[in-house]
Amino acid sequence: MRKPIIAGNWKMNLLPGEGAALIAALKDKVAGAKCDVVVCVPFVDLCAAVEAAAGSNIRVGAQNMHWEKSGAFTGEVSAEMLKAVGAQYVVLGHSERRQYFAETDETVNKKVLSAVKNGLTPIICVGESLAQRESGETDGLVSAQTVKALSGLAGEQVKDVIIAYEPIWAIGTGKTATDAQANETIGVIRAAIAGVYGKEVADATRIQYGGSMNAKNCEGLMAQAEIDGGLIGGASLKAEDFSIIVAAATATVQ
Ligand code: PEP
Repeated sequence: MRKPIIAGNWKMNLLPGEGAALIAALKDKVAGAKCDVVVCVPFVDLCAAVEAAAGSNIRVGAQNMHWEKSGAFTGEVSAEMLKAVGAQYVVLGHSERRQYFAETDETVNKKVLSAVKNGLTPIICVGESLAQRESGETDGLVSAQTVKALSGLAGEQVKDVIIAYEPIWAIGTGKTATDAQANETIGVIRAAIAGVYGKEVADATRIQYGGSMNAKNCEGLMAQAEIDGGLIGGASLKAEDFSIIVAAATATVQ
């Protein structure tokens, strides 16, 4: 039985004080969660978020990092720096970063290796565009993205990373993959992991769905056998909606 994980991706939203207030509002609502609860916040919100989440079951993550430890990389932040301020997770390879900031499978892989080496849990995003889905490329693409992102990790390390299947056409668009589509593609990703690391590793690895998941559609998505949680954008900015998604994940835990 894989423990579900619900992670919020605040994207470039909320000032530090606003983020702390959101976490304060969330704390009681998710206190009884039987899933992992994470908020991935802008870099400048990290300290306030960690402080606001102290003593609760809410964990804090970042949304990107550089793979090097330190050096002449103006504007970048390392895994060690994220750890130093209390981050425990980091979103890597989000489609917005691949699209607007030229992230590639190679740079995502370097970041994954650095995150794991430094004790951060990466939430690795993979997913296809609408054109790729319509031309039948989805399965090959998400499998290749997953295998490349994990390259260089041992099976035991793969078990501890999180994969987020995020069809690009469903992110921030209000269009959600159907429960069956999401379940099927996540099954494909799991099979790709099994192909490299074996069934035991694949069965232990948590794979989320992300893409316009909200308080209304979360129950159906979370009921799918392959779906181990959600990466939530817009709906993570509202304590009430996010806590409903956490409750839906909790309801799947026996
Ligand atoms: C995301 O940012 O990863 C995401 C899934 O966004 P949204 O839920 O708003 O579609």
